[in-house]
Amino acid sequence: MKTNKYFLFILALSMFFAGAKFQAQTQSEVGSLIKKLVDGNKRYASSKMIHPDQTSARRTELKNEQHPFAVVLSCSDSRVPPEVIFDQGIGDLFVIRVAGNVLDDAAIGSIEYAVEHLNVKLIVVLGHEGCGAVSAAVQGGEAPGHLRYLVEAIQPAVEKAKSLSGDVVENAVRINVQNVVTQLKSSEPIIEEFVHKKKVDVVGARYDLDDGSVTFLK
Ligand SMILES: [Zn+2]
Repeated sequence: MKTNKYFLFILALSMFFAGAKFQAQTQSEVGSLIKKLVDGNKRYASSKMIHPDQTSARRTELKNEQHPFAVVLSCSDSRVPPEVIFDQGIGDLFVIRVAGNVLDDAAIGSIEYAVEHLNVKLIVVLGHEGCGAVSAAVQGGEAPGHLRYLVEAIQPAVEKAKSLSGDVVENAVRINVQNVVTQLKSSEPIIEEFVHKKKVDVVGARYDLDDGSVTFLK
């Protein structure tokens, strides 16, 4: 009996350390994935792009499979194309683009697919300077057609931004990114579980239209 208890104790201990080791591995892996994006963005911002993974050989290599290293949820704005501003190529990024980088069920489903089936460990929510969707939400009033869905999704960030000092649109862009990060982290049933088990991390970032730099938000 005593031996059994001892065995179970050792088993629990080794499982704990195996779990901790796994989490540490994922965290350091996520760190290196962010660095890959940061390095690519530095190349882009300084006009030293290397245009990786854009050859016909790369296309052939990925004919039957894909292993993107990050999900990027970004605005549809034509000035913020993720593969360009991070200097990446075919098969590198799993991109979802919606004006205002907001979430709906289709966007969440796309991200769930990347996390669960493509084993992506990093999700980046990318807002940007001078976002038209955020500006429209700040201006308020009746948004025509389906635009109101975008404006409504951004509205909580606008309300919070109005209570702060500084530029309302700029603050709303950052708060909107953080709100979407929070929504994703608690998105049940799939992403919340992966985040909880530290199999995936969700981070926010802001793109600067002037100098082309991406700043990862704390
Ligand atoms: Zn935008």
